[in-house]
Amino acid sequence: MVKYIFVTGGVLSSVGKGILTSSIGKMLQARKLKPTVVKIDPYVNIDAGTMNPYMHGEVFVTDDGGETDLDLGWYERFLDLSLKQNNNLTTGLVYKSVIEKERHGDFLGRCVQIVPHVTNEIKNKIRAVGKAVNADVVLTEVGGTVGDIEGLPFLEAIRQMRVEEGFENTLYVHVALVPILDVTQEMKTKPLQHSVNELRRIGIQPDAIVARSPQMIDAEALRKIALFGTIPEEAVFCSYNAESVYQVPLILDKQGMGDFICHRLALTCETKDFSAWQQFVDAIVHPEHEVKIALVGKYAGLTDSYVSMSEALRHGGAACKTKVCISYLEAEKLEQNPQCVNDLASFDGVFVPYGFGPRGTEGKIAAVQYARENDIPFLGICYGFQLAVIEYARNVCGLKDANSTEINPESSHPVIDLMPEQRGVEYKGATMRLGSHKIILQKGTLAYSLYQQEEIYERHRHRFEVNLDYLDILMKNGLHFTGKSTDGRRMETLELPNNYFYFASQFHGEFKSRPGRPSPEYFGFIQACVNKKLGKPKAPVS
Ligand code: GLN
Repeated sequence: MVKYIFVTGGVLSSVGKGILTSSIGKMLQARKLKPTVVKIDPYVNIDAGTMNPYMHGEVFVTDDGGETDLDLGWYERFLDLSLKQNNNLTTGLVYKSVIEKERHGDFLGRCVQIVPHVTNEIKNKIRAVGKAVNADVVLTEVGGTVGDIEGLPFLEAIRQMRVEEGFENTLYVHVALVPILDVTQEMKTKPLQHSVNELRRIGIQPDAIVARSPQMIDAEALRKIALFGTIPEEAVFCSYNAESVYQVPLILDKQGMGDFICHRLALTCETKDFSAWQQFVDAIVHPEHEVKIALVGKYAGLTDSYVSMSEALRHGGAACKTKVCISYLEAEKLEQNPQCVNDLASFDGVFVPYGFGPRGTEGKIAAVQYARENDIPFLGICYGFQLAVIEYARNVCGLKDANSTEINPESSHPVIDLMPEQRGVEYKGATMRLGSHKIILQKGTLAYSLYQQEEIYERHRHRFEVNLDYLDILMKNGLHFTGKSTDGRRMETLELPNNYFYFASQFHGEFKSRPGRPSPEYFGFIQACVNKKLGKPKAPVS
């Protein structure tokens, strides 16, 4: 019998539902249970792929090429799962299937309505995710805040699931903010009480409540939350600010949340074992070294735009007991004040992330040049890889006007160009080169040293690539392309063997980076930053 846990949030968004859902999954995994997760995003977009990272944070890419909400990244990192496109459910997707069925004639003669047709579709999709992987528990996180108009059909669907699946097989967890007033230092539970009331109005009585608070809630707040939430005090938990998000499962489990859930859902499970997780958390919170990384990006104002990247840098850091301090530098500022590029001298590493469009690209190119010429460890990902090629073409190969046709379609040296199969593609949704693809690494290179394998699979999300017409001149001038697609026509990694660490990839290693198993390119980068800082000689390639 599959069990279902539903996580809803109140008071405001970004209250940490994603981390809570991942943490619940971790508590179940620690007891040898098999969870999977569905993220519901009530927006009308089919997927996150067409949304601006500035509004919504990064787009997380799954192995099967889904462009999903960033919470899937948290689930993958916490639970070491490889999720699929269908683990992310949106209003757009639900309506698309319902409308397709209607056109097909599946509801012939009937009036198609939100209840039951849309809600049935939602329930079927949630159940299908659990079935596909034979999960013990399906965790469903409902995005947005309780009371949003667009979330209503989803809440109605999960309300119906209690009746259909049975009380002992369903659990509603509600998380809401409990702020502490600056002036009086008082914990305020009223907003949480209101959001619980809103949930009840819809017909859902929570079974457990998580107070998201800056500090552990006091006895008075706990008593009030239980009383007004109509639940025992044992069902109230507190997710307070932690040094690292990876501590949250341990914090909640210590309060008894894991045992509470297993007992309430009558789950037969083994004694909990958090040892591997604890080991990783210890490495994160008790580092021996520290490095300062400059992340030069276009969306620097919202750190969630780069969350998988910053986490991959931290995973890499934990593996060499190093605290990674990231400064998010606005690429455009480097364009407006070119002397600012010299500030990069105070960093141990320069990181140029993914990106789209022309804004800020000259600033990023200046950062790449500075890192290359001053031998500061450098890692470039996707756009970072493409901009490194442009920088090299301009400043080493002497192709002054070199550019990507994404940035300047009129460039006389389009060293980065649209992939042939992208020509004529009009639709923007889900049409990039997406998901996991095989890459062949050349032995005796940095790429091979990092991965220790000739064949690797990494995830992608791009429309442009290295223009093969310029391969010769780039290589003759010393730029090494050491990883390629299976047909050898797509450049996937580049490196400069004479630099201390200079590496970039067309693929995104961050999406497969895990606590305790960091992405090799990110780990190699951070390790080089520490070693260089400690004055150690450059590691030889193997
Ligand atoms: N804009 C570039 C492309 O489409 C890079 C994409 C990225 O950085 N994910 O190829």
